Amino acid sequence: MIVTITMNPSIDISYPLDTFKLDTVNRVTNVKKTAGGKGLNVTRVLKQLDDEVIASGLLGGFLGESIKKDLDEANIAHSFSQISGETRNCIAVLHEGMQTEILESGPVISVTEAEDFLNHFTKLVEKARILSFSGSLPAGLPKDFYAQMIAICNKNNKPVILDCSGESLKLVLESKAKPLLIKPNTEELADLLGKDVSEDIHILKETLNDSLFAGIEWIVVSMGAKGAFAKHQDKFYHVEIPKIDVINPVGSGDSTVAGLTSAINNGDSDSDVLKKANVLGMLNAQEAVTGHVNLDNYQKLFAQIKVSLV
Ligand code: ATP
Repeated sequence: MIVTITMNPSIDISYPLDTFKLDTVNRVTNVKKTAGGKGLNVTRVLKQLDDEVIASGLLGGFLGESIKKDLDEANIAHSFSQISGETRNCIAVLHEGMQTEILESGPVISVTEAEDFLNHFTKLVEKARILSFSGSLPAGLPKDFYAQMIAICNKNNKPVILDCSGESLKLVLESKAKPLLIKPNTEELADLLGKDVSEDIHILKETLNDSLFAGIEWIVVSMGAKGAFAKHQDKFYHVEIPKIDVINPVGSGDSTVAGLTSAINNGDSDSDVLKKANVLGMLNAQEAVTGHVNLDNYQKLFAQIKVSLV
């Protein structure tokens, strides 16, 4: 079983408007509300791949119940830890080809709620084969919370695929607890190292050899339309992808994480792990709905991806 973790989920609301008028009323008809958060996008793609998956993390209040209902309707198993605060809304106003976002910071987690979650999580880890953590941590949790969770997984010999950024990623890299894989994009990598990261293969190789990444078996740097660059143990891979028509690339990184988790769980070869991850990223970019992929085009794209040892 794959366990996905979303610590700060949301109800994602999209408001499409022809024009967005400030300081007056905007009326909207075609409203979409979905259970969101990066980990839930990963979960939905894993479900479409027919992988056995269970979603976990923190949920609270009326919107928390609404997320559970949404997952039930999609036939997705879940086991969240309850919090007293209210799960957040994230609003995207789509107007004149632009996207204006209003993101609530979300609930503040108490010390007791954090402890309750870790107890709940420990039981899930025992049942899991592999775990995938995505997204930011809600306020109130210590910044090293992912490192604490990974320590529990390491103790149980369960691999972790980690997709987070900023301080929580830095603290994981500095801790003794090690995920199996991290998936930064080039911006997150630059932010982490405090310097520009170019997409030049030699520079990427040098960058991933930084001592900050010691002990991390897999580093997959996703590069949007330019594919990906990866390090597995002492091997480096360049992943070249075909040019595709893109509709909405938001969530392609989450789809990529689903592919990495699924392929590693299946024991695929390095090349197939990277191909599956990139195909799913591309398939997500070809759809309007985040975390949705049309698997009919899977094989065709898979055959067009080139993975080379560099
Ligand atoms: P997000 O945070 O929106 O989920 P990300 O920055 O983590 O995205 P990206 O590097 O943008 O992740 O995309 C992940 C993968 O999806 C890429 O490695 C690539 O395979 C595919 N992809 C994304 N955008 C495009 C695009 N415009 N054209 C083709 N493939 C794309």
